[in-house]
Amino acid sequence: MLLAFFSSLFGGSAVSPIVSPYRVSADQLIYAFDQANLPVLRVPNHATVVFSTCDCFENQIQSTEAAFTELDWSRINPATGPVFVEGAAVGDVLKVVINDIQVGAQAVMVTAPKLGAIGEQIQAPTIHTIPIIDGVATLMGGVKLPIQPMIGVIGTAPAGAAIPCGTPDAHGGNMDCNVITAGATLYLPVNVEGALLAMGDLHAAMGDGEVSGCGLEIAGEVSVTISVIKNSTLPTPFVVRQEGLYAIASSLKLDDAANLASANMANWLTQNTPLSLSEAISLMSVAGDLQICQVVDPLKTCRFFLPDAICQQLNLNTLKDF
Ligand code: CA
Ligand code: CA
Repeated sequence: MLLAFFSSLFGGSAVSPIVSPYRVSADQLIYAFDQANLPVLRVPNHATVVFSTCDCFENQIQSTEAAFTELDWSRINPATGPVFVEGAAVGDVLKVVINDIQVGAQAVMVTAPKLGAIGEQIQAPTIHTIPIIDGVATLMGGVKLPIQPMIGVIGTAPAGAAIPCGTPDAHGGNMDCNVITAGATLYLPVNVEGALLAMGDLHAAMGDGEVSGCGLEIAGEVSVTISVIKNSTLPTPFVVRQEGLYAIASSLKLDDAANLASANMANWLTQNTPLSLSEAISLMSVAGDLQICQVVDPLKTCRFFLPDAICQQLNLNTLKDF
């Protein structure tokens, strides 16, 4: 009966539309991850939620004619949310399965003095708008790039002082980690009751480092399924993908972020495999990869990657709830 109803709505097609009971709109924004933020939505454990997001400029730049100096910088890096997850208690881990990321038809990029890794060499701001057609972005010089949508900002509220959405840390936030895509599962800490999950700053694509300070900044929609994991030993933030596991860490200096990501993976391996610490770090040295997420935010972010082929031999099933 219901199917017949939908079929009549959609021209007799037998395909039912995807109906998600939970949505958060792109005008429900925060600028800091903060335990004092009022939730815009409460969802039960295992809920699927669709977040609509603005780009990192809160959609203020629609053309290359936009006046860079007139941008309202207090509206940079908004995140949509936060969502209160029922049953999420302090010390739990939030499992966020990223089902899908849809992005718009146009991305924005800027360069500006002091922005990014070599901003000192840039004399004046520039704005580029980048069309995206059939999943391919046309970049500077006509270069074609298949898009790989990812989430730049995603996190939970910290236990202590509020953290601006532009800063990454142990709560997640502006990690700008290009393995946080559809198909990935992200594990975040629950620092306050309900976790208070929020996200934004989608990139249609972004290279490791994000050296200009910009990805293909774009508005869009993210579908996630959120679950609460009790008694987890995972060092968060942590990402599970088909190709393997990633421990993510941020710190003021890139060296410290690199060491922390490595230490988090090594210590977790010693807790979950027969390996000693020296055996774990030796294995990581030979078969794992230390990778850079970004070098342009107030804290820098690295990830340590352990390939699935190695995880399988250590009985670390990449599909289980750690
Ligand atoms: Ca970002
Ligand atoms: Ca961004």
